Amino acid sequence: MSTTYTIDGETGPWELVIGLEVHAQVISQSKLFSGASTTFGAEPNTQVSLVDAAMPGMLPVINKECVAQAVRTGFGLNSAINRRSVFDRKNYFYADLPQGYQISQFKQPVVGEGWVDIDLEGGEVKRVRVERLHLEQDAGKSLHDQSPTKTFVDLNRSGVALMEIVSFPDMRSPDEAGAYVRKLRTIVRYLGTCDGNMEEGSMRCDVNVSVRKAGAEYGTRCEIKNVNSVRNMMLAIEYEARRQIEILEEGGSITQETRLWDAGKGITRSMRNKEEAHDYRYFPDPDLLPLVLEESFIEGIKATLPELPDAKKARFMSEYGLGDYDANVLVAEQDRAAFYEQVAKGRDAKIAANWVIVELLGALNKAGKDLAESPVSADKLGGLLDLMADNTISGRIAKDVFAEMVESGKDAGTIVEEKGLRQVTDTGAIDTLIDQVMAEHADKVAEYRSGKDKLFGFFVGQAMKRSQGKANPAMLNDLLKKKLDA
Ligand code: ADP
Ligand code: MG
Repeated sequence: MSTTYTIDGETGPWELVIGLEVHAQVISQSKLFSGASTTFGAEPNTQVSLVDAAMPGMLPVINKECVAQAVRTGFGLNSAINRRSVFDRKNYFYADLPQGYQISQFKQPVVGEGWVDIDLEGGEVKRVRVERLHLEQDAGKSLHDQSPTKTFVDLNRSGVALMEIVSFPDMRSPDEAGAYVRKLRTIVRYLGTCDGNMEEGSMRCDVNVSVRKAGAEYGTRCEIKNVNSVRNMMLAIEYEARRQIEILEEGGSITQETRLWDAGKGITRSMRNKEEAHDYRYFPDPDLLPLVLEESFIEGIKATLPELPDAKKARFMSEYGLGDYDANVLVAEQDRAAFYEQVAKGRDAKIAANWVIVELLGALNKAGKDLAESPVSADKLGGLLDLMADNTISGRIAKDVFAEMVESGKDAGTIVEEKGLRQVTDTGAIDTLIDQVMAEHADKVAEYRSGKDKLFGFFVGQAMKRSQGKANPAMLNDLLKKKLDA
């Protein structure tokens, strides 16, 4: 077990308490209550039905696919699926909300309590409880930067389905909050229910933070909006906790309020406090019947769930003998895990993991590329591993061949033949190399033989250089030892 994360103030250590509300945009062709398209990046106001524009008399019709996506996500969060849920109106006025209310779920969400296991450093796993997942409509978007004097409204996003996933206040450090969001993102991507893209806003987090002394009751929290990356969220938590500690240590108290993260300045600032907080006057939407799910609908979704990240990780550890770290890295993305399995099939699984994680992901990261854009396919990487396994090339040469594969996209065998990189495994040839090196450095041979064993590495280096790196290292070592000790 790790020790509790704390921040030191004048009066000693403080604990952090963090709960997250994550808005995840549902992957669906059309919106939650209309047939308008949800494609990202379309011309403003080209994907707006009469329902989304809130024309008088228009009626919402629930999109079955969005409900299925919410239920699917509920399974991914190990949550209760509520057979009956209710859509409510959350009333407020805003220019980008033509209805004057948002249709959401308040008292009876479609998905109830569940949990997410988060993966922490050193193989530690912590369970964060999920309070609920509900479906709601997104609002439109106000564009303030199109004109110096006017604000424009784009309703393309109006009515798009969101899943709001609310956690219990179970996280205790910025790292835990980061691990939670990353895990959530991995889960929804596996399920195909949200693309998890924080920069494009398809996953947005509201972060609730409070501080307390060890063992004390929960303190008053502030909610931080506007964090658009895991990194920013972690910085915002740290800043906000320090701000609260300072106030409390000066004898002040925390006002429950909504704050904005200012990424440029690295601070949170007040947006609105509880006194001004809205009374949303929730009530069941009279245009919509309660949502009742049939068992067959739920079972149908359950039957088509993919292998989820935790299960895949456990399988990678038992089936392939991988450690916690490697398994976590490989299952973080579904296509990465599949790529790995294709490389590992029929080969040494640990060597395969090492090459995928260290060499391939390292090279892609350096080039700023996704796995989907990899110049080296799983089969080609496998081919390289095969050349090592059958001693055609050494591990050292394999790294050069791999670099060339990344450059040219050629397969390993072709590169080895073209460049004449085949490993020298012929004892006679290696003998000759060694004899040459020993003749050239007769003084060092004498020194070695009079007890300076450390020189062994020098001879290996010289002989390897002479072979242009192609001598089989194990054979070279063996033969060299025999000759020097003769
Ligand atoms: P509200 O209805 O006002 O939004 P909720 O009880 O639904 O309040 O909580 C919203 C979020 O705040 C949840 O994610 C919850 O975990 C978190 N939260 C609640 N109390 C605290 C606290 N004392 N410190 C930090 N987070 C908290
Ligand atoms: Mg709430």
